[in-house]
Amino acid sequence: MRSLQSDVEQRGTRIFELVDKHPERLFSKAGFYQRLMALSMHDERFKTQLFRFVAVLPSLRRSSEIIQHLEEYFSDSNDGFSPLIGMGVRVARIVPWISAPVLRWNVSEMARQFIAGRNPHEVIATLRKRRAQKIGFTVDVLGEAVVSEAEADEYAALYVDLLEKLARETRDWTDSLGKNAELFPVVNLSVKISALYSQISPAAPADAMAHLSTKLRPLLRRARELGAFINFDMESYALKNTTLELFKTILTEAEFKDWPHAGIVIQAYLRDSEGDLRDLIEWGRGRDTRFAVRLVKGAYWDYETTKSGQNGSNPPVFLQKPESDANFEKLTRVLFENDSVVTPAFGSHNVRSIAHAQAVADELGIDRSRFEYQLLYGMAGPIKRALVEMGYRVREYCPIGELLPGMAYLVRRLLENTSNEGFLRAKFAENVPAKELLRDPKELIKPNGANRSGSPVMATAENRQNKNGASLHTTAGDSFRNAPLVSFIYKDSQDKMQSALREARKRFGEKHPLYIGGEKIWTDNLTPSVNPAEPTEIVGYGTEAGVDEAERAVKAARAAFEKWRWTPFEERAQLLERAAAIMERRRYELSAVEVFEVGKPWSEADADIREAIDFCTFYAQQMRRLGRPKLTQQVPGEESYHHYWPRGVAFVIAPWNFPIAILCGMAAAGVVTGNAVIMKPSEQSIICGAMLMQVFEEAGVPPGVLNFLSGHGSVIGAHLVDHKDVDLIAFTGSREVGLKIWESAGITRPGQRELKRVICEMGGKNAMIVDADADLDETIMYSIYSAFGFQGQKCSALSRLILLEENYDRVMERLIPAAASLRIGNPEQPGIMVGPVIDEPAYRRILEYIEIGKKEATLAYQAKEVPPHGYFIPPTIFTDVKPNMRIAREEIFGPVLSVLKVRDLDEALEVANGTDYALTGGFFSRSPDNIERIKARLEAGNVYINRSCTGAIVGRHPFGGFKMSGSGTKAGGEDYLLQFLVPRVVTENTSRHGFAPEQSPQYRDEFLWPKPRQ
Ligand SMILES: Cc1cc2nc3c(=O)[nH]c(=O)nc-3n(C[C@H](O)[C@H](O)[C@H](O)COP(=O)(O)OP(=O)(O)OC[C@H]3O[C@@H](n4cnc5c(N)ncnc54)[C@H](O)[C@@H]3O)c2cc1C
Repeated sequence: MRSLQSDVEQRGTRIFELVDKHPERLFSKAGFYQRLMALSMHDERFKTQLFRFVAVLPSLRRSSEIIQHLEEYFSDSNDGFSPLIGMGVRVARIVPWISAPVLRWNVSEMARQFIAGRNPHEVIATLRKRRAQKIGFTVDVLGEAVVSEAEADEYAALYVDLLEKLARETRDWTDSLGKNAELFPVVNLSVKISALYSQISPAAPADAMAHLSTKLRPLLRRARELGAFINFDMESYALKNTTLELFKTILTEAEFKDWPHAGIVIQAYLRDSEGDLRDLIEWGRGRDTRFAVRLVKGAYWDYETTKSGQNGSNPPVFLQKPESDANFEKLTRVLFENDSVVTPAFGSHNVRSIAHAQAVADELGIDRSRFEYQLLYGMAGPIKRALVEMGYRVREYCPIGELLPGMAYLVRRLLENTSNEGFLRAKFAENVPAKELLRDPKELIKPNGANRSGSPVMATAENRQNKNGASLHTTAGDSFRNAPLVSFIYKDSQDKMQSALREARKRFGEKHPLYIGGEKIWTDNLTPSVNPAEPTEIVGYGTEAGVDEAERAVKAARAAFEKWRWTPFEERAQLLERAAAIMERRRYELSAVEVFEVGKPWSEADADIREAIDFCTFYAQQMRRLGRPKLTQQVPGEESYHHYWPRGVAFVIAPWNFPIAILCGMAAAGVVTGNAVIMKPSEQSIICGAMLMQVFEEAGVPPGVLNFLSGHGSVIGAHLVDHKDVDLIAFTGSREVGLKIWESAGITRPGQRELKRVICEMGGKNAMIVDADADLDETIMYSIYSAFGFQGQKCSALSRLILLEENYDRVMERLIPAAASLRIGNPEQPGIMVGPVIDEPAYRRILEYIEIGKKEATLAYQAKEVPPHGYFIPPTIFTDVKPNMRIAREEIFGPVLSVLKVRDLDEALEVANGTDYALTGGFFSRSPDNIERIKARLEAGNVYINRSCTGAIVGRHPFGGFKMSGSGTKAGGEDYLLQFLVPRVVTENTSRHGFAPEQSPQYRDEFLWPKPRQ
């Protein structure tokens, strides 16, 4: 008996023979495209620039713009790029009106290689040709991830329309094999869930399923009536569980339970794909009706690894290509072994994977008419021909649509064709021998983990060099690992959060003490803290401190400081690490309290706890770096050590909008640097503050080193700011309060030892500018999130959207429907984007601003429905806003967005910079020159390009602004701790009578922490 491997080799060799009978290059279009792709495969930088240029081209309207972008992308083409490009750029400069259309035409042609038609009419013509070649079809509508429900509705209608047309046009078509034809309807439509609902949140599968089912039912119903097949495509990992659940749920409904013509995709590059497939099969058996599975490796490998790299979590995909190949083979067998319930389709261009499926089918006695191969339109033509010739059923995946919405698809295809590890490149561009290509992937898996070459996550800091020759290596951030965010994709995480919310509810009304000098202190006054989504609910009570308690706290802190300052920094750092570990353990519990106390949506609450954890671990790491004295210079006969002392007693005043993270960040910085800290949470988030105190208590903070005082800012806050024994004030909050603190801290009181250091982080009036060539999908998605996420109550939130008049209409016509699609509600429910604002005064103030806006500008959009209870403000958008209007100048701190129209980028910059604030700012553009210009000129402490302007991550995006946004400090940055320290230099003459040691001695431990005298 032949081994499976030799059978695979024989079949593979046969396919190759047939392929080689009609030799074809990797890219069927010769000339321009072929040469560009060849270049891309040999030059990664060129490839990046080329793909970026291709992606922006369809959005450029004028010839001059096209040429300008060409120059910007390829201007330094002397560094090894093809003379073709260099010459192209030169020619283009001279005759833009000729070159630009030619370029556009060429890129369109390149895209058309992968797009079967712009409309149903064109696509049907293509399908007819394929029919003559005995190749079937599945049609996919280009465009994914809609930003509004209006767009989603359009897609749903498009799918139904397409289905009708395809059914009509192919009425008399029959199956190419004529055997087991009932398993493979001629009309086959592939759908993507992200095109059908704009508000999919992985945390809220039930909501997604309710909306998607409503859209899908008519489509499935019609497909059934027409005898067509519907396939659920699989997209990024975040949508995987929802897609699987949706598929199973809707197809178990009575109406579809006995309908066999639906299929779903399993991505073999996912580690959990085998579990998912087995689960599906079990479901199918229970349902007792066939269904189909298209097995693929997966199209989002780069995306998944990049995303996970950014989040610091394990990628859900295999990291070695042969692992995906081997898993594909494993799942191939699973599919065939379950032939009685599942109809397999193999979506691969890899001859080894294809031949392996043939061999396993034969081994298990499965007739070749019971499964099919699916390949992408415009790719691997010779393989399709070979398979048809061998008597297999072949179906082509045919995208339909315009280039602009199809760009994401096109870029995925270009990446796939040029991928270092891809089969197509190996076979058709690099002529790797058949024997090599047919090897068993299991043998190629390296035992010691990942071969992640080519992965974006692997670009190490060391090999990133900028143009000036300076390394981009950022010591602090690069050596630090952030805690990953909780992924609410998983049912387990959703369940844990639900259960934490239930538990938190049970503890509503609990009372929390002050914590002074290691003791729990109660006073007669208790302050209730309410749930802003349901103000009748009291989340808990905080004990109210008065001046007496404040005095007591200063004394306790002062006393503790004298010991704590001499405690080795290693011990202090470990305290923070213990606190971080406790917060990790209590993560869901803490998040749940935030949801109730300040109205944070789940993922925002989790991000806050993650930030608190990161502050602790990052500052611990930074203290170890700063704590050791440093020799200033090597000179004979003298040693000078530079080092730091803590300042003394630090008073930390935090806001409610990041109720644990900011409080924790400032307090942890104070404690780890050897100061004694009094922390005062905001009056609106006392319970979160009390929870943080519990964390530090459990972590073993010595008495007096961290004290917790809740109470009125106007009473204890003001008292402590002015206190002679308070040496440092770390404040985050409003400009009004911040400036008062700044001023009063400048007055030296009798008996005061130190000049008070004030760390003052205040508000913003953050602007994002949208360039004429911006990617509008991203612009809308990120602008909406930046403006309305957590109800616009982040100091970093977007409040001024600055649009160039050239694309004003295009942006607005998508922005408003996107805002109108947002989920507003009680954030206790998963997947809510807009919850309540913090309290009644905030509610009233924001409504007042809305009234001002109505007088000053044009109310372009305001949500109509918000929950009846609670402090819900409808998301609001004003247009015709001018820079001098109040709504364009004053911080509103709510879900209100002002849109300003400007002539050009110069004016945009002037408007963006024309405020008192400089906190965050952003820019959407695909012009490298404009991006550089904004990077250089936008006045903001944190400038974000082509992403949201909120969501700073510790160590990665040190956060803080200047002008009236703050004193220029950077929370989560490597120099933050310096604010809490005073530098000292100790110099000793080490020479005696002209004799000096050759080397300066190491400092002794006593230098840092003197032993107590015996
Ligand atoms: C008809 C059809 C429909 C498809 N539908 C979908 C779909 O709905 N959803 C979807 O996600 N994909 C889908 N794909 C798959 C995807 O678009 C790619 O075509 C496919 O993954 C390429 O695999 P291959 O076997 O042809 O090529 P190969 O060259 O053998 O494999 C390339 C694949 O290997 C994986 N890979 C690459 N590098 C690594 C690495 N370092 N470690 C681990 N794995 C790696 C990636 O998945 C990559 O795409 C579909 C493919 C076809 C042909």
